[in-house]
Amino acid sequence: MAGKVLAAVRVAPGKTEIREFPMPEIREDSALMKMEIAGICGTDVKLYQTPPSNDAPVIMGHENIGYIAKAGREFTRRKGFKEGDLVFVEHYVMCGQCEWCHLGQYRHCKYTDWRFNPDAIRYGYTSAEKPPHLWGGFAQYIYLPWNSVLHHVPKGVTPELAGLVTPMANGVEWSLFDGGVGFNSTVLIQGPGQQGLSQVVICKQAGASLIIVTGTTKDGARMQVAKTLGADHLIDVQKEDSLARIMEVTDGQGIDVVLDCTAGAGTLPVLLGVDALKRKGGIMVIQGEMAEFPNFPLGKITVKYITIKSARGHSYKACELALQQLASHRFPLEKVTTHTFGLRDVDLAIRSVGGKGVPDVIHASLMPWK
Ligand SMILES: [Zn+2]
Ligand SMILES: [Zn+2]
Repeated sequence: MAGKVLAAVRVAPGKTEIREFPMPEIREDSALMKMEIAGICGTDVKLYQTPPSNDAPVIMGHENIGYIAKAGREFTRRKGFKEGDLVFVEHYVMCGQCEWCHLGQYRHCKYTDWRFNPDAIRYGYTSAEKPPHLWGGFAQYIYLPWNSVLHHVPKGVTPELAGLVTPMANGVEWSLFDGGVGFNSTVLIQGPGQQGLSQVVICKQAGASLIIVTGTTKDGARMQVAKTLGADHLIDVQKEDSLARIMEVTDGQGIDVVLDCTAGAGTLPVLLGVDALKRKGGIMVIQGEMAEFPNFPLGKITVKYITIKSARGHSYKACELALQQLASHRFPLEKVTTHTFGLRDVDLAIRSVGGKGVPDVIHASLMPWK
């Protein structure tokens, strides 16, 4: 395949340029994917404004859905994916050798961990200077080495719906696997963004008996979507005494599981979560990206026997379950996939997800061919 590939490249913090890259040579053990949908999430907002690594140019886009356009013979033989297949590619590029990889926990593999490994490969994070350059979904094609991690998109799931697989997989991982949400659980979900809304869907499906979603006054539209997806109570933390409401609707018992999906709202959601949890043995899953936490309530956490877990992406199994969830068509998820943008609108798309562009965006999909 000759020709050029167009990509939106982050060339500096908050700055994107359209650039051309050579079509990569596809050897026996690799493949090329034609991009359909790159989901944009809060991580993109953060990575766009404060890139983790120096000033290397990066093709962002880490939630990638597309068709296999070309696959080497060995790639198909070893991995079971052939030309024409619609696939979801995890952003973690694995080593395939470590214990985490054998467990399907590619997120923890050192090979993909850019925080500790300067040579790590991860879609949406890796420098576009590294051949064959196509390491991000804001492009017409991405390159798939033998150690990329792929999932088949089930029949009946469109590329756009499949674009929700990442937040939905986080929903499975954080609420079910980490939080242990199940039949009759009471759950507090903080933040009604695409992550929080996905938690609502998964908790509802798992049999939670009470789902409370908190948000701020500007979240009005998202809160209504939360209600449509199955939230029992909505709390505006700026207008109401959140803790009093939670205690009222739980008859003073408190909550089994708290899921903090506020991403960067500081220490307040954690403090509310600690107080809202039941008397003993509650679980809190937090993102915890705040640099400092003055007066961390260690005493309360000890006395209430609280377990704190860390929300860190998703496992292979969570992705598979998320795809099954999408295939069930059980929830009106078209209310979540609100906006699509073209390649030249990457900057606007990211700003919109961050609340500073097109209003009322919940989930934005980048369509590189649009
Ligand atoms: Zn993401
Ligand atoms: Zn590994």
